Amino acid sequence: MSKKLQNIINDDKKYLFQNYGDRLPVCFNRGEDSFLFDQDNKKYIDFFSGIAVSSLGYSSKALKKALHRQVDNLLHSSNWFFNREQIAAARMISQLSFKGKTLFTNSGTEANEAAIKLARKYGISIADKRYSIVSFSNSFHGRTMGSMTATAQKKIHADFGPLVPGFRYLPYNDLDRFDSEVKKNKNITAVFIEMIQGEGGIVIADKSFVHGVFDICKKNNILTIVDEIQTGVGRTGAYFAYQHYGVEPDVITLAKGLAGGVPVGAIHVKPHLAGILSRGSHGTTFGGNHLACAAATAVLTEISKKSFMDRVKKTSSFIFKRLMDIQKTNPLIKDVRGMGLHIGIELNNPGMDIVRKALEQGLVINCTSDRVLRIMPPLTIPMSVVRDGMLLFEKILLNEEKNSENS
Ligand code: PLP
Repeated sequence: MSKKLQNIINDDKKYLFQNYGDRLPVCFNRGEDSFLFDQDNKKYIDFFSGIAVSSLGYSSKALKKALHRQVDNLLHSSNWFFNREQIAAARMISQLSFKGKTLFTNSGTEANEAAIKLARKYGISIADKRYSIVSFSNSFHGRTMGSMTATAQKKIHADFGPLVPGFRYLPYNDLDRFDSEVKKNKNITAVFIEMIQGEGGIVIADKSFVHGVFDICKKNNILTIVDEIQTGVGRTGAYFAYQHYGVEPDVITLAKGLAGGVPVGAIHVKPHLAGILSRGSHGTTFGGNHLACAAATAVLTEISKKSFMDRVKKTSSFIFKRLMDIQKTNPLIKDVRGMGLHIGIELNNPGMDIVRKALEQGLVINCTSDRVLRIMPPLTIPMSVVRDGMLLFEKILLNEEKNSENS
């Protein structure tokens, strides 16, 4: 380890909370196209995008131009005033999803907090005083109290009780259980669902499950809230993952890739629902400031360009094909799944060692749910870089397999 890195690690331990556990031993310093460079200027292929955030990579002229212009003009005023950048970004969200209204936040968890508040007020004021919110096993919706409670994972709740009351957890992809719950529990006001559970291990919602849930919700006046924080803004090969299913949610929540690396979140709802968060009922100081929304507009404009999504699909097909080929000869791989550039490789063993080895070889990947390697490169990654990255990945997996055979 270089002296530079050792000093950074020492200072991290001295000055920062250690809530992120053992960070991987790299401090990125610079990005270029789909590459990252560390403290010692070592180059890495980025198959991670900072958890599906840096969707345009690190050299987007459009994003940089929008940011530079906004830095020169105005970073922040306040939500006391009108804001043209917010309007432009909200208009683009409407165009790419469904006609609706948007409220900007600073993060994904805050977008979900706003959705929880909206669902509660909808239930109390419109839907017979209901307040219960359903979410699904292994979901992830954030770390603040409401979104954390919506997250149906015991390990995330540990030691933070009492949790927010009024949440109900049901098994993912189990329509019968959902149906019987709605029949017996007349208190449900909303359902939170991820079309692909990202933190849950890239687990995809079945079409029949989604259609069934949406039908039941419609018949029973239950709001459908699709958490698109990880899957949205082009990540899965559609503008938003729900679009693969031919359904239209009442609410979507966004963040991560929305502004290409500038922190922003958003809740976007059908027009008649926006008034529920009435004057004074919700707000945020920074949410949707000029800089964040200028960045979001630039990203949304880029992904809406004619050939953008075709390119994502093409890159995705290439990666899936390579992974299927690798799977045929490498018994370490149990399953390959995902959509677009939101890809999971389930292993038969824990995956963190492979993440570390990949990093040593100059490839950034991730592991979630202990055994699922995640590949989420910038949406703009050139095919030549994908090829190089996949060759490296294959080599690393092959070595790992040989090692496991020998041990
Ligand atoms: N919802 C989903 C599906 C996520 O993947 C995440 C973050 O990983 C969140 C919500 C929380 O977003 P944030 O970390 O921006 O608060």
